Amino acid sequence: MEYSHRYPAYPTQEVAGELERHIDIHRQAYNYTRYEYENVDADNIGSAYKHHYRLPDWKDQFPAFSEVNSKALQRTVTRFYQNLDGLSEQKQNGRKVGKLRWKSPREFQSMTFSQSGFELKNTSGRRATLWLSKIGDIPIRYHRVIPDNADIKEVTIKKETTGEWFVSFGLETDDASLPEKPDVDSLDASNSVGVDLGILNYIHTSDGHTVDWLDLEDEYERLRREQRKLSRKEKGSNNYEQQRKQVAKVKRHIRRKVLDYQHKITTWLVREYDAVFVEDLNVKGMLKDSHNARNKQDAAWRQFITLLEYKADLYGCHVKQVEPEGTTKECASCGVETAKPIWVREHSCPACGFECDRDANAAMNVLQRGFSELGLGWPEDTPVETVLPTDTTTVSAKRVIEAGSLGA
Ligand SMILES: [Zn+2]
Repeated sequence: MEYSHRYPAYPTQEVAGELERHIDIHRQAYNYTRYEYENVDADNIGSAYKHHYRLPDWKDQFPAFSEVNSKALQRTVTRFYQNLDGLSEQKQNGRKVGKLRWKSPREFQSMTFSQSGFELKNTSGRRATLWLSKIGDIPIRYHRVIPDNADIKEVTIKKETTGEWFVSFGLETDDASLPEKPDVDSLDASNSVGVDLGILNYIHTSDGHTVDWLDLEDEYERLRREQRKLSRKEKGSNNYEQQRKQVAKVKRHIRRKVLDYQHKITTWLVREYDAVFVEDLNVKGMLKDSHNARNKQDAAWRQFITLLEYKADLYGCHVKQVEPEGTTKECASCGVETAKPIWVREHSCPACGFECDRDANAAMNVLQRGFSELGLGWPEDTPVETVLPTDTTTVSAKRVIEAGSLGA
């Protein structure tokens, strides 16, 4: 399986200068690849592999190309051909596409080290150092550990338009070394969980955990402030550009904070349970009328589910999306549907008398649907009432962030 981890990087001013210089050499290499592809006899080029043989010539002609790591230089040539493939794929999908364009410095802000020329070292707590050949050491904020069984295939370092640096590690795990998922027959109500993704930005599990969403009020307030400032600047002016970066920075900060938080919750879920069930948002999205806030929310939950699914393989956990329609209305105990307006927080079934929290009922339905999705029936000797906890424990976002775990 292939995936990637991304970390903020904090090069010194001197190293940042070197990074920029190297990236610009790579940009020239990219543009030169494009030039040769269009103008040079096609026998020697036409594939990344063949084109790599041109590099010694390049270095003779242009000493600058010798100043960067040679594997990374090959990787930049490959990047041109990958873009070319991407282009023809779009063409096949019926999109009107032009040729690959020459890249200006603004459009080329990253380089990739492939297989060699880099080392991740000094990993301790939330710090680590990335060493890059011909450049040096770059401190990174190591907020997520790279699993022991993962190989680092490549490292990309990128300068964002905000001026911030990020490194992203392309990781590969041997599928054979991934933990095995538990036998489906071993799943029961004690080791599996249904998760209700709340419209109020939180999750509720079928075994009675609720996790509050992050309080981002301060961040959004700051975003509004920076956006107001931007609206007062003259478009195209220097100040406008500066302020635009400021706005982008706050937005990025919010996105990263949400992502970080989602990582923690999803890791907790796949570690804690053998099977995790959530609603299928692709179906749900079609059911609901969509306005903007709702879409934004869906995007956040989609990201959450994507994380959950990739961790399912990493940690050996079953993750399934289930039919979302009616999870709130349906009684988890007898299946009779009762309409509930959003403000009714209690589920109280007129047919069988079953009572519980509205979201607990929904989460329980998600759990039951998950079981039938896996081809398992709900165990007959397990009445829903006995599975549902009598109490709900609320876990605050602050605790998730500090402890990195909800389990305690
Ligand atoms: Zn009922």
